[in-house]
Amino acid sequence: MSKKVAMDDIVSLCKRRGFIYQGSEVYGGLAGTWDYGPLGVQLKRHIMDLWWKTFVDNRDDMYGVDAAILMNQKVWQASGHVDTFNDPLIEDVETKRRYRLDHLLEDNGVNPEGMTLEQMAKTIQDKDIRSPDGNELGNARQFNMMFETKIGPMADTIAINLSRDNIEKLYEKGGDFTSYLTSENVDKTGPHVVFLRPETAQGIFTNYKNIVDSFYPDLPFGIAQMGKAFRNEISPRDFVFRSREFEQMEVEYFVHPDNWQEQFEQWRTDIKSFLSQLGLPEDSVHEHEVPEDDRAHYSERTIDFMFDYPHKSDELLGLAYRTDFDLKNIQDHSGKSMEYIVKGGGERFIPHVIEPSFGVERAIMAVLVSAFTQDEVNGEARNYLKLPTHLAPYRVAVSPLLKNKEELVKKAREVYDLLKKEFGNVAWDDNGNIGKRYRRQDEIGTPHCVVIDFDTIEKDGTVTVRNRDTTEQERVSIDELTQKLN
Ligand code: ATP
Repeated sequence: MSKKVAMDDIVSLCKRRGFIYQGSEVYGGLAGTWDYGPLGVQLKRHIMDLWWKTFVDNRDDMYGVDAAILMNQKVWQASGHVDTFNDPLIEDVETKRRYRLDHLLEDNGVNPEGMTLEQMAKTIQDKDIRSPDGNELGNARQFNMMFETKIGPMADTIAINLSRDNIEKLYEKGGDFTSYLTSENVDKTGPHVVFLRPETAQGIFTNYKNIVDSFYPDLPFGIAQMGKAFRNEISPRDFVFRSREFEQMEVEYFVHPDNWQEQFEQWRTDIKSFLSQLGLPEDSVHEHEVPEDDRAHYSERTIDFMFDYPHKSDELLGLAYRTDFDLKNIQDHSGKSMEYIVKGGGERFIPHVIEPSFGVERAIMAVLVSAFTQDEVNGEARNYLKLPTHLAPYRVAVSPLLKNKEELVKKAREVYDLLKKEFGNVAWDDNGNIGKRYRRQDEIGTPHCVVIDFDTIEKDGTVTVRNRDTTEQERVSIDELTQKLN
């Protein structure tokens, strides 16, 4: 990696300057949730807009959707999430705190890749690994990460499954059913149970047939969706990297099974080009070919794109070849054909799928880490965000040299209005002296500052344009300003 950035630098910058705050902070927080402030929401939107423009607007083989977050629970039964969307969990026997077993192994220098739950548990015993509080660890088990909730007027009722014998006993007891509220009797998959979606992908697969019927696309074609996903992570950590509520940007790209390799390679190239548009240096991104034992059951090939985060090199996004697993499952569970018929009554088959799956929070962190720069200006240390112009929260900041000189403020307001009309995301900054304003804008990544001074109003109508990266200043006439900043 080209430079080392500490997690604390990123977290404190985000909080101090209004990018990202702890969720529900005023009430002591809610672990794994984060709120975006005015600058964070701009940065996030710019990343998501760039993704949509790159992968949807600029292509003619893509269809966008925005599916409901709450979906029929059959979706998650068919996809395998109800049975297998688990993470390994282990509990501290003293404090009862719960930990992710594979992370605990990693933290103790063991690579858990490819290990079964039993092998991981045995390694904990063999190596006498303890909890971070130094206590013994209990039994390991799988923990399902989907958030469950209940829908409609049945939400406050519990469905219980009772045998005929038990119903007779219930009558004998005068209808007191409390003793039957055991985990075997309570119906957890009653029709009122719904899950918050743990991925956006299933909202795409369930709309595949709709898109085919409405738009008759030729293969290959893709369906894209961005939006919230929820996972009940055992231990959320590393700032927004592992959150319980986050956003994904996913494409399911439908291909003929004979040429999935070619399309997979094309996606590798397209992903790398998108990451360079995010300003991530090439040498901080690494492709990890996921070994068979570690791949999701449906995947025949997966590449994890890893980024050098401050905590470690970790997954930024995944590219998976999912075969026809999902559409076949939907066909089996719904009884509706998912076959694609080549135009003119040709070949019929279930398309195979290539899935590039981006996480927004992980992209934001990678962008901030890549942009975070320290240098020296006039013998003084400076921290600044070297963000690409198209991602910066503010494109430009406008200042009157002095805020108590009416004529300067008036002219500066005119320039501000002009630039605001052109770019939208323009800051007005008249606080403190000019040096302080530059530092403040540097710290949040504003590429240019425009200053209106006495020369502007008394002499030649030019303003000072100061460049964030070089700190150089030049005089530009107001007429040429928007062109200069474009
Ligand atoms: P990990 O192994 O790190 O838990 P994963 O392999 O389970 O991630 P996927 O199911 O492939 O992740 O999800 C696709 C993408 O969604 C990830 O590459 C990541 O960018 C994002 N993502 C997944 N889980 C989280 C999370 N808890 N917080 C933030 N982003 C996440």
